[in-house]
Amino acid sequence: MRFKRVKTPEEPETLGLELEETVPDAKTVVFGARPCGIRGFAMFDRVYATDRVTDPYYKARRDNTRFVTVACTAPMNTCFCHWVGSGPADDDGTDVLLVPVEGGYAARAVSDEGEAMLALVETTEKKGVKAEADAVAKAAREKLGDAPDISDVPGKIMEAFDDLDFWTEMTAACVSCGACTYLCPTCYCFNITDESRGLSGRRIRTWDNCMSHNYTQEASGHNPRPTKAHRMRNRVGHKFGYYPDLHDGTILCCGCGRCVSRCPNSVDIRRIVMRVKER
Ligand code: SF4
Ligand code: SF4
Repeated sequence: MRFKRVKTPEEPETLGLELEETVPDAKTVVFGARPCGIRGFAMFDRVYATDRVTDPYYKARRDNTRFVTVACTAPMNTCFCHWVGSGPADDDGTDVLLVPVEGGYAARAVSDEGEAMLALVETTEKKGVKAEADAVAKAAREKLGDAPDISDVPGKIMEAFDDLDFWTEMTAACVSCGACTYLCPTCYCFNITDESRGLSGRRIRTWDNCMSHNYTQEASGHNPRPTKAHRMRNRVGHKFGYYPDLHDGTILCCGCGRCVSRCPNSVDIRRIVMRVKER
């Protein structure tokens, strides 16, 4: 929202406040995203657009955004979408799924909105294209290999909660840069800041980063998560423990591996999850 501090002739000694709420209304198509990235929005929906609580700003953007996803055919060695119930051709959260086939893409509408989008573009029929697309998706899934059973990890995370030595070891290489959270498609914590110039300004919401020491810093100076170990325990605990506990076992990680490939010190969330499992 935007705000403006105003003085009135009736009460010149006090500052009044004028507010202008701005709900986003731009229509957007995200084209060519990967399934792992879009799956994140299905996870946000369980938090920001539920029957119980709806965030009007998130909801407005979500309702005005459509996703055209391209199935992944060349997973990297940092990918582990198959660990968390997903896969290279997952259509969770998307509107149209494209699968690369000989001579183009097989397009499949996933939602009613996706159906409407496909009706707007020129497509050609190709005999046997569904079987070809299924084979492409199957081959990509096979490249990922076997996945460990991590269904016991949510419970074990809670058992490991008070073992700070364990979390200290798991965080030894971390330099608290926050890259892992800022590029994560399933991280959704935010901060609220007032930016003003003179008497007017705006209140904005920005992505926040739980790996930063400031994240839980309280006004008194006390910080309930004072070390890297406390913060990593929260990050991994939220994704693999508390969120699944609240949302029918769904893990708050799409296995995209972005945090693994971009961490400057090669902290690998898969290793932490497996160490929790093996405890
Ligand atoms: S990207 Fe790596 S070093 Fe940076 S905060 Fe995350 S785990 Fe720590
Ligand atoms: S693999 Fe890492 S970046 Fe990707 S969703 Fe999971 S925690 Fe986030």
